[in-house]
Formats: sequence, structure tokens, C-alpha cells
Amino acid sequence: MTVIDEPLEFVPLKGLRFDNRFSSQLQADPVAENRIRQVHGSFFSRVQPTRTANPQLLAVSNEVMDMVGIERSEVSSKNFARVFSGNALHTDMDPHASCYGGHQFGNWAGQLGDGRAINLGEVIGDEDTHFMLQLKGAGRTPYSRSGDGRAVLRSSIREFLCSEAMFHLGVPTTRALSLCTTGDQVMRDMFYDGNPAYEPGAVVCRVAPSFIRFGNFEIFTSRGEITELEALLEFVIGNHFPHLGKPTAKTYVAFFREVVDSTAEMIAHWQRVGYVHGVMNTDNMSIHGLTIDYGPYGWIDNFDVDWTPNTTDRAHKRYRFGNQPAVAHWNLAQLANALVPAVGEVDPLQSALDDFIPIFNSYWAEMMASKLGLPSLETDLSRDVADGLFDLLGAAETDMTIFFRRLMEIETSTELENVDSHTVVPLIDAYYSEADFHESVNGRLVDWVRLYLQEVKQLGIHDEERTAIMKTANPKFVLRNYLAQLAIDAAESGDITMTHQLLDVLRNPYDEQPDHAEWAAKRPDWARHRPGCSMLSCSS
Ligand code: AMP
Ligand code: MG
Repeated sequence: MTVIDEPLEFVPLKGLRFDNRFSSQLQADPVAENRIRQVHGSFFSRVQPTRTANPQLLAVSNEVMDMVGIERSEVSSKNFARVFSGNALHTDMDPHASCYGGHQFGNWAGQLGDGRAINLGEVIGDEDTHFMLQLKGAGRTPYSRSGDGRAVLRSSIREFLCSEAMFHLGVPTTRALSLCTTGDQVMRDMFYDGNPAYEPGAVVCRVAPSFIRFGNFEIFTSRGEITELEALLEFVIGNHFPHLGKPTAKTYVAFFREVVDSTAEMIAHWQRVGYVHGVMNTDNMSIHGLTIDYGPYGWIDNFDVDWTPNTTDRAHKRYRFGNQPAVAHWNLAQLANALVPAVGEVDPLQSALDDFIPIFNSYWAEMMASKLGLPSLETDLSRDVADGLFDLLGAAETDMTIFFRRLMEIETSTELENVDSHTVVPLIDAYYSEADFHESVNGRLVDWVRLYLQEVKQLGIHDEERTAIMKTANPKFVLRNYLAQLAIDAAESGDITMTHQLLDVLRNPYDEQPDHAEWAAKRPDWARHRPGCSMLSCSS
């Protein structure tokens, strides 16, 4: 036996209390060997993380430390970096990889599973909530297929920063506890163009109530493993949706209704902040309505409903910004199909699925109203204002984040007949080309602002009230693609400071933070076509 195969050492970490429900209540894969295979009739396979050459801790999220209960002083202990890079285990951890399937780009892909993610165990965190700790990039599992089980530094920084940024924006998401480098080099062909290169390896520890995906249900139904499907439903309802009561066909539908609702709300938030997931396969959809699996995601700089950051999706743009609500609906239909054998009939699931559109529209209208500083989109004029804005934002390259933020600065006391080019000056900064602005937008923008002010006046909205609402819905700081790339460039050359600074600024995305104004600026020209800034692949 080689040194690598020896079990990992157990070490203490102060503050963690484990209660491993998933791996103690559900059937484990009886095969102990860590080799790639199809795993039938089981929910997970026990597997140890693979040791790495030189684990180093690069960053932690203090809020997540508190949330899972680890004492903050542990960060400086050697054990922390060892455990959260997969080189040692806490005594009460029960590491395992879960089995799931999924629809990828619209097609059933069969068994996928945690190919490079390893659940360490569930901790009891603040307010007695359970959280699963999961390492991403900690080595091969039975589900690794042709992959190496590893993750590279660039994609790990992107996941670490973005999950925390999303949380502080108020978008439901998995969290990130820590980011470690492994000291190993990982080979990646970043653009699948025959130019593989070595990159530094890294591991992120992610945290969520569970990492159960739509695909965890789909795999059982696809194989006719209905007993396992029902056992998973019982587990999920008993542990994560206990308020639904005793698991029965009725509660299965109620569970599905909750997934429809939380997914609709999550997607409305994505559209609100300009986040494009990039790979909305059903194996990347959380049953908790959390944003999960940060891969080739991107942020809308100029408002463009057809934009996708994912080069793998360039031909069909299935996962483009404007298509996210429709894809979520389609994904929910796959989950509904998977639940049919347990529910025993189609109609109640179909009816819950049909509610997705009105539920999404209602969340979206509420968020859009807040973005505009209006109480709702219930009046005809409010709706016209919102609809008119979408046409306008597409008329010339307009930075979405800056536009909404600057809209707060419009002088609403201006009489409607006096609304003119001067009134819209605060908004000019949102346009990528001033020439384009003057040529194709200026007049339309003046007309739109007049309409907007007409509604603001008609509803008697005071400016303080308007800007207070807008400030909760329109961030000043988002993790612009080029900012993440700058942090990655620096980290790859050994300087992690920008990652720390971004994490800090993105903690308060709605605050002015004038000292960091440069990070609220439009995407610079150099980033327009630079890989990593405007285009990403699934290679991570
Ligand atoms: P994704 O599209 O990144 O969510 O991944 C789809 C599937 O591929 C999941 O089952 C992942 O666990 C697996 N996967 C992705 N990258 C790797 C890798 N480097 N090694 C092993 N499995 C991987
Ligand atoms: Mg995934």
C-alpha cells in the first residue's frame, strides 16, 4: 500500500458539532473501493479526499465560520488548512460523494454524481440549523467519470467570491467557508482548443443545508428504483421540510410546490442583479432554491438578454440571461417527472408546475418595482414604465448595474414639461459609448424618464422613500467578470490581497463605499474580449 492510500489523520477543530443525517439515514454504496463505476440502489459512496502536496489556506469567510460554529481562532491552526484542503479529517466527519444524474443542455445524461465534490458531514450551526460541509476539488470519487476530481485556482476563486457576493446581495446561494491551494498542478485545456496547460490546484469548502439536486431524484426514477426515490423523499421532507408533515403522496406534491416557489424566487433575484449561471443543467439545481455550482457564470455588464458567458453554450445559448426563467421551468418539469412514480398521478404535479410562471412573474414584478423605487407594478403606467425600460436598455450598450444605481439620482422634482437632456445627465455614465448614446438613446431616454417621473408624481412617492427602496434592490458593487479575473491574475502570481479586498467590498454591495468607486465602474475596454472576462468554458 502506498502512503497516499493510507487513511487520513483525524484532527480536532474547535467548535464543530456533527450530526451526519444524510450518510446515517440513507443507504450507502456497499462497494468500498474508490473506482469509477455505476452505483445502483445507493445514495452515496464513502470516499476519502486525496492528499495534496502542500495545502495552504488563502481565504476564509468569517460569517460562514460563525454560521457553522468553528471558533475563529482555528483559522490560524495548521489543522484548518489540512482539513479544508482534504488532507486530514475531523473525528466526526463521514466523507462521502453522492450519486445523482441530470439533464445536461436538454438531454438526459445518466449518472453524474459528485465527481470532484466530497461531503465531509453535517454540522449543527447557528440557530441549531444543520449545514453540510463539502469540499470541491478534493480528488476522485466513483463518480469522477473521465475527470481528475480536481479544481483549479481560477475557478475556485470565482466560486469562493461569487457565492459570498451573492449571499450579501440577498440572492439565495450555497456559501463558501474557505479557499485553499493544494500545492499540486492540475492540467486543463481552458478553451477546449488543444492547448492544455498546468494550473495551480485549489479546494473550496462550500456550505449549504444540503447539496441535494433535482438530479438526485431523477437518477432513481430513470433506473426504476422507486423504493430509493421514496426513501429520498422521506429523508428530504423529514429533515429539510419537516413543516410539511408526515411524508405521503400529498406531502411530496407540497414539497414540489416549495421547490417551484423557491426556484422562481432565486431566478427573479438572478435577473434583478444581472447574474447568468451559465450551466443550468438539472444536476446544478438545488432543491432548496439555492444558486449552486459556480462554473462558467457571468455578470451582465451591458444589458443583453441574449448574453451567455459559457463558450460551450455559444451555438444555442440555451442558458442565456433572458432564458433563465424558461429553463428553470423546464428543469422543474424534469423534477416533476421524476416524482410521478412516488406521487402516483400527474395532475397535482402538473398544476404545481403550471404555477411557476405566475409565481415567477409575481416575484419579478415585486423586484422590478423595487428597482424602480415604485411600490408595485400594479398600475398600467408602472407596467408601461417597466416594459419601456427593457426596450430602452437594449437600444445601446447600457451598463445595467450603473443605470439602476444612477436612476436614484434623477431630480424628481423637475416639472414634466421641463424634463429634457439635462434631467437624464446622471444616467449618461451607464452608456458604453457616448456617441451611441447621443445618436440612438438620448431622445428615447428623455421620454422614458418623463413617463417614469409622471408615475412617481402620480403616486406621490417622496424621493427619500424612492431611493430607500431602490438602494435595497440595486447594488453598486457586483462581482464584475473582469474584477474576478484581476483577482485571479494577482492570485496566480502569488498575491491574494485583491481577493480579500473584493470579499470585503462585496460584503456591503448596496453601500456607497466611495474608497472603492473604481470597482463600481463599467467594464474597461480591455476586458471586452479577454478570456475569463467575457467568455468562459466549463473547464475548471
Ligand atoms: P458541472 O457541469 O461542473 O456541474 O459538472 C458536471 C458533472 O461533471 C458533475 O458530476 C461533476 O462532479 C463532474 N465533474 C466536473 N469536473 C470534474 C472533474 N474535474 N473531475 C471529476 N468530475 C468532474
Ligand atoms: Mg455540477
